[in-house]
Amino acid sequence: MRIDILTIFPEMFKGPLSESLLEKAQDKKLVNIKIHNIRSFTSDKHKSVDDRPFGGGPGMVFKPEPIYKALKHAGAAKNKCKSEWPPKNKPLVIHLSPQGKTLDQDLVLRLVKYKHIVLLCSHYEGIDERVLNWVNQEISIGDYVLTGGEIPAMVLIDSVARFIPGVVKERESLEKDSFIGGLLDYPHYTRPADFKGMSVPGILLSGNHKKVEEWRREQAILNTLRKRPDLIKKARLSKEEKRKLKNK
Ligand code: SAM
Repeated sequence: MRIDILTIFPEMFKGPLSESLLEKAQDKKLVNIKIHNIRSFTSDKHKSVDDRPFGGGPGMVFKPEPIYKALKHAGAAKNKCKSEWPPKNKPLVIHLSPQGKTLDQDLVLRLVKYKHIVLLCSHYEGIDERVLNWVNQEISIGDYVLTGGEIPAMVLIDSVARFIPGVVKERESLEKDSFIGGLLDYPHYTRPADFKGMSVPGILLSGNHKKVEEWRREQAILNTLRKRPDLIKKARLSKEEKRKLKNK
């Protein structure tokens, strides 16, 4: 997957992209991340990317021209966007914005199907509304306002990159993570079997894989019911599991 990031703070990406799985994913050429400084696409001597809002009021607004040129440079401004979900072989342009769709696992799994994603990170009051003509999706990382789109872009990259084949060694661990199938993960334990008088559930030491699987499934359901009851309604449960839940 190719990811182009348009930002006025390229240095912010250094840490997150040069450590851990994201570093390895780039080394293995599973993901190709290019960072573009929007200031390089300005034409005045102060390299200004922002200006006062028409109509007055507080704050500054990202001017359309430098963003348009940056999008063009990233191969993502050939035509005005007609679709929120273009064909998978075309670039998907995303503006990180608190006004967008909230990023969740289903959205991550939809994004991972694209070969080329372009992330536009803005600041101040946001972008000139006309830029949205070249944006397919606005995506938010939650109902709160941050100072800029860089941290949301990092969150999106990390959540998407995990699903690119080869990035996470044990694919099975992805399939068992929270939200897959609509449930939270089951509780995990490691050595020692006894820690300060607290012992690991006996079933996990039994060596009976079938029983361990059953216990984990049951615990995932209970965990979800306790921590995120809002998820249970949409979770994929068997008739028997639904029946048991009713009696809880
Ligand atoms: N005036 C804007 C509004 O109320 O919708 C908020 C602008 S915010 C201070 C500056 C930029 O940070 C946004 O344009 C966006 O790129 C980014 N941003 C802030 N909160 C975000 C969130 N929850 N998710 C994604 N991006 C966010």
